[in-house]
Amino acid sequence: QSTEPWRDFSRSTVYSADLESALHYLLRVELATHNSLEGEELKVFKDFVTLVSKLYPGRGSVVKLMETLSDWLLSLPLQRIPYQAVLDLVDNKMRISGVFLGAELRWVGCQGSRAGLRGYPCSLWTLFHVLSVQHEATPTALENTGLESEAAPVLQVMRRYIRTFFGCEQCGRHFEQAASLSVDAVRDGGQQVLWLWNQHNMVNERLAGSLSDDPLFPKAAWPSPVLCASCHEEKDGVHVWNQDNVLRFLRRHYGVSNLSPKYTL
Ligand code: FAD
Repeated sequence: QSTEPWRDFSRSTVYSADLESALHYLLRVELATHNSLEGEELKVFKDFVTLVSKLYPGRGSVVKLMETLSDWLLSLPLQRIPYQAVLDLVDNKMRISGVFLGAELRWVGCQGSRAGLRGYPCSLWTLFHVLSVQHEATPTALENTGLESEAAPVLQVMRRYIRTFFGCEQCGRHFEQAASLSVDAVRDGGQQVLWLWNQHNMVNERLAGSLSDDPLFPKAAWPSPVLCASCHEEKDGVHVWNQDNVLRFLRRHYGVSNLSPKYTL
């Protein structure tokens, strides 16, 4: 049983508290398993921070933290960065005004019916869906970052992050396998949003009924007809997705106007 109080939420809303908890966990827990960052790890981390600093649509204090971290990482002449230095910056030890990322996990749309279910992996999917939608909405945001020449920068950064840092190694292998087969075919922002949606559904299908499934949130093709009736169609008695309507739905669902600040610190 989870010791956290249950937080009422709507399945048709995205919560900043989940995105901020994802960043808190990523920066203060997942990364803390590395004493220092160098070489490929450092490059992957820099790209991740740049991506979030340019595309994160949530609170200004979080954007400012990611911008500060990004500027600092890019300005350092060092080949190797101790994790403690990253943490000092994330904790804003220098007391730069307007910089803040809460040091607490508050799952809302990602809360599980008991401890150990959902949480971080759910919030990481959510974060990257949000970033993919934001990239399509603001295609010039990545100019002069070194990521602008990638056709699918959100997927490429996600792929490298998951492969390098994500605690679940089996997940990393599966994701890398899928990405190596088809990410190169992605040509624009809309296709990027749909690729991630489709890949997430393939994972849902593979995991349906497994032990990691939260009984309150069984894995299934998403969005359900309740969330988006027009996403579903039938052709010759077989279910098919209406991809135009799925894309419209994803833009709305993961777009900035559907982001709720409820339960943030
Ligand atoms: P999640 O699947 O985490 O989904 C979170 C939320 O996203 C849902 O509540 C829903 O609102 C929304 N959503 C659901 N489907 C879609 C979709 N298709 N498109 C857009 N939004 C959607 N676990 C394993 O056991 N094996 C693996 O190989 C594995 N691979 C993973 C790869 C990645 C990149 C990540 C981030 C996680 C992976 N996981 C894997 C974890 C697993 O996918 C779930 O995140 C975890 O089991 C928690 O599930 P959940 O019920 O919170 O829903």
